[in-house]
Amino acid sequence: MLICLLPVAGVCDGDLDTIEGFVASYFACETRRLPPLETPAGAWDAKRGQHDATALMRAALPLLPGGATRLLVVTGHDIYIPMLTFIFGQAQVNGPAAILSLARLRQEFHGLPPDGTLYVERVLKEVLHELGHTFGLVHCADRACTMSLSINVTNIDVKRGELCDACADELVRRLRVLRAEAAGGNDGPAGSGT
Ligand SMILES: [Zn+2]
Ligand SMILES: [Zn+2]
Repeated sequence: MLICLLPVAGVCDGDLDTIEGFVASYFACETRRLPPLETPAGAWDAKRGQHDATALMRAALPLLPGGATRLLVVTGHDIYIPMLTFIFGQAQVNGPAAILSLARLRQEFHGLPPDGTLYVERVLKEVLHELGHTFGLVHCADRACTMSLSINVTNIDVKRGELCDACADELVRRLRVLRAEAAGGNDGPAGSGT
């Protein structure tokens, strides 16, 4: 299994090191860091002062290397989809790609002093959340589970940074199915989750 990281230009190496190390160890898989994607000109929405998550994903998807299992796009831009004021990230449920925005995970974004430890905790929770979606996990009702929906950073901070037992079991089952499919089957239908 190979999970690729695609930084959108501007993400610092330290953040990518942290994310890559976590992904490699959590999923016990190979990782690859792709060259940074230049922000597509059409992705900026001047009216909203944000970047369009869908436009970034559209630019990123063709860069998924052959043989890669999943692609995680990481951006420092604050991103949105039309129906929401912002999103922390978005994933194709049971699909190949997810995007994560680091912007609102920083205390500074909310006018607070920087907190590097809290920032890293938030980043890794959201990495697991979005990749969890790509492996077919849906939102969990357990607020402490990393797969519960976050609409603000407080929601992220109450999560434990781990999956609940039910989600953890489901992830194991999904990864097993995925490996079986890789040996000669079809992917299930892809949906969308934030
Ligand atoms: Zn759960
Ligand atoms: Zn979600």
